[in-house]
Amino acid sequence: MDWFFLGACVAAILGERYLPEKRYTFQKKQIPQILFWVWFSGFVFSEDNAWVLAMTSGPARFLASLNTPSDWSVGQIVLAYVVVREFFSYASHRLFHSVPFFWAFHKVHHNIHEMHWGSNFRQHMIEQILYMVIVTCTFQLYKIDTTALWYLNAFQLTFGMLQHSNIHVRLGPLDYFLNSPHAHRWHHATHTEFHGGQNFGAMTSIFDRLFGTYYAPKEIPKEIGFPGMKNFAVSVPGQVVGSFLDSVGLLKRKWSKRLVGFLDQSPV
Ligand SMILES: [Zn+2]
Ligand SMILES: [Zn+2]
Repeated sequence: MDWFFLGACVAAILGERYLPEKRYTFQKKQIPQILFWVWFSGFVFSEDNAWVLAMTSGPARFLASLNTPSDWSVGQIVLAYVVVREFFSYASHRLFHSVPFFWAFHKVHHNIHEMHWGSNFRQHMIEQILYMVIVTCTFQLYKIDTTALWYLNAFQLTFGMLQHSNIHVRLGPLDYFLNSPHAHRWHHATHTEFHGGQNFGAMTSIFDRLFGTYYAPKEIPKEIGFPGMKNFAVSVPGQVVGSFLDSVGLLKRKWSKRLVGFLDQSPV
C-alpha cells in the first residue's frame, strides 16, 4: 500500500495545482504539520500495523468466534462488509459531532480554514483508535477476501483524499450514492444546517439521506471551520493535549491555557 499511498499523494498535489476548486492561501509553514498528520495517520495508524491489530484483537477475537456467513459469495461478503462498516462510520462520526466529550477530539480534524488533501489525515489518536476498532471488528465479522479488502482500502484512501482536496470535481449521478468532495466540503462548513452538522458518511451518502442529515446546496460554502476555532490550539502538541483537557472540561482553567499556549510554540 505504501507506493500506492505515495502515488495518491503526488496525484493530489498535481490535482490541486492544476484543477483547483477555490483559490486558496496555502502557506509553506503549514507543510510540517501536513507531513506530520500524513505520517501519523497514513503510517503509524495504518490498518496493517501489528500493534494496531494487537490493540483491537480483543473485540476482534470475540467477533471471529461468532458464526460467519461462510456460504456467501465474495460479492455478498464485500457488500455486507461495506454496508456495516459505512453504518458504523456514519454513527461514530455523528457521535463525535453530537457529544461534547468526543467533539473535543474531533475538533482536530475540523481545525482548518480551507480544504486540502492532507486534511484527510488530521485525526486525533482517540478517534483513530475508535475507527480501528470498527474496521477490525467489521473485518473479523465478515472475513472479507484480502485482495478485495486491498482494493476497498485503496479506494477509501484515495476517495478520502479527494473528499478533502481543493480539486474541482463533480461526480454526476454517483453523487447520489457517494459522499462527494462537494458534500464533504459542506461537512467542514462553519454553517451547519442541522444540529451537530451534516454529511457524516465516510464513502457513501446513503445513511445521511436515510437519517436526514444530507445537505449539499449547489454553491460551495463561504467559510470552513467551526465556531470558536480562533481560540483552538494551532500546533500538533497543543491540539492533542488541548483536546484531552477540553474533553474533561479543564481547558478553561488558567493553568491549562498556559500549558496549551506553551505547547503551541512547537514548530509542528
Ligand atoms: Zn466531522
Ligand atoms: Zn473531513
